Amino acid sequence: MIPPALRDADGPLLERLTEALGPGGVTAPDPRYLTEPRGRWHGRAAAVLRPDTVAAVAAAVRLCAEARVGIVPYAGGTGLVGGQILEAGPVPVVLSVERLNRIRAVEVTDNVITAEAGAILADVHAAAEAAGRFFPLSLASEGSARIGGLLGTNAGGLNVLRYGNARDLCLGVEAVMADGSVHHGLSCLMKDNMGYDLRHLLIGSEGTLGLITAASLRLHPAPAETATAWMLVTSPEAALALLALVRERLGAALNAFELMHVEGMRFLAETIPQVRLPAPMGTDWAVLAEVSDGAGSEVAARFTGLLADALEAGIAEDGLLAQSEAQRQSFWRVRESIPEANRHVGSISSHDVSVPPSRIAEFIARGPAAIAALDRSLRINCFGHLGDGNLHYNVFPPRGRHRDEFDTLRGAVKAAIHDLVHDLGGSVGAEHGVGRLKVEDLERYGDPAKLAAMRRIKAALDPLGILNPGAVISGG
Ligand SMILES: Cc1cc2nc3c(=O)[nH]c(=O)nc-3n(C[C@H](O)[C@H](O)[C@H](O)COP(=O)(O)OP(=O)(O)OC[C@H]3O[C@@H](n4cnc5c(N)ncnc54)[C@H](O)[C@@H]3O)c2cc1C
Repeated sequence: MIPPALRDADGPLLERLTEALGPGGVTAPDPRYLTEPRGRWHGRAAAVLRPDTVAAVAAAVRLCAEARVGIVPYAGGTGLVGGQILEAGPVPVVLSVERLNRIRAVEVTDNVITAEAGAILADVHAAAEAAGRFFPLSLASEGSARIGGLLGTNAGGLNVLRYGNARDLCLGVEAVMADGSVHHGLSCLMKDNMGYDLRHLLIGSEGTLGLITAASLRLHPAPAETATAWMLVTSPEAALALLALVRERLGAALNAFELMHVEGMRFLAETIPQVRLPAPMGTDWAVLAEVSDGAGSEVAARFTGLLADALEAGIAEDGLLAQSEAQRQSFWRVRESIPEANRHVGSISSHDVSVPPSRIAEFIARGPAAIAALDRSLRINCFGHLGDGNLHYNVFPPRGRHRDEFDTLRGAVKAAIHDLVHDLGGSVGAEHGVGRLKVEDLERYGDPAKLAAMRRIKAALDPLGILNPGAVISGG
């Protein structure tokens, strides 16, 4: 539900915004700001605001508040839950942070990089690397996703297992609040218990509580030695046994442990055949694992020994250690191309879920029956970050049929999977956020006391409801 007090962005407001933001600061709503990666939502906006200073963001927010006009924050536009797209209600403005894209500072002694909200993740990686450091947040959209959106969604990705998600990598934020005031919260401090931590409210709030304009982000030592393995296993149970073995033998050196189903490999062969598998799939499941550590840690030799033991014990059926950086990248290309292949095939419903590690095998075993009860012909591609319990569970039409033919089934597919996840003590929104896709799910599965507190927080920080109306909480 959109708050009733909001109004359409009109000509006089756009004139005031144009004057406040200067040349290039207000543009017509180019379609690229109004669509999203899965092509499910089509937004509307009177204009796209492109402020290039924090003061300009604050001025824009003040003018929109005066006019009671909604603001849809927009960073890289790669969000998968429609948080950056507003389809209905009073016509808003989109506020893009793309021109706020500077790396403000790299503090090597503090191990902190300060980047503006529009900085692209790959550019933050490059700046960290140039300083001899490593910024571990890593996801397939890193060439487009920007710091504001990554923090807005509390993005996860491939290295959560070792380094945590975006929240864990952020020491402080600078943000424009709904009244146009600026929260100067950039920090290099590991410890600061002086009052409520606004950073943690803003991170993951998907632009509904404030507009992040910059962040101070934690850097880590650049890994000196890395080993990456492609392994075949017969079942999720075997993959979990392999994970336990890697943890036991390589411990904190484990960065990523990704599980992929053979259906995803079929989708790759069908839609992106130039992406080649490291080895033919002789099993239903493949694992991609990466470890890294300091100089002299000999992670490759240790991983090779582990792999030999896993093969001998029958935990893994086959395994390959990357012998070069090019081969390592070709392993990762397979994993990172799966979402693109999925998009080409076109899912009926996609689910970003997490379940406790002890329930993962049960979830993967029960899911197909829940889907088959609705339609036996549907295909499932389950893959994801097994190491942190986060799976992407996407349901597709049979070969040769289009997802639109199954529109009426989408709600039932989603409910079947989400009910199962909830039943197993999991979360139906693991890393992509709530956006507009999962507002009803949050209502359905969320804790009532938490929902009530969320509404009160929203009302306190954004009483006019201008920040990302309708995202995350209904009536917000
Ligand atoms: C191929 C592909 C792979 C992906 N892989 C992963 C993955 O492994 N892990 C994962 O977590 N996600 C993944 N995603 C989802 C997506 O990349 C992340 O959600 C990312 O964090 C979004 O960043 P963005 O800059 O594109 O934000 P946008 O899509 O522009 O916005 C996302 C949300 O943040 C809000 N927002 C934008 N800017 C700000 C700001 N300055 N302040 C406050 N709120 C703001 C928006 O309103 C919206 O609600 C993937 C997406 C794609 C397309």
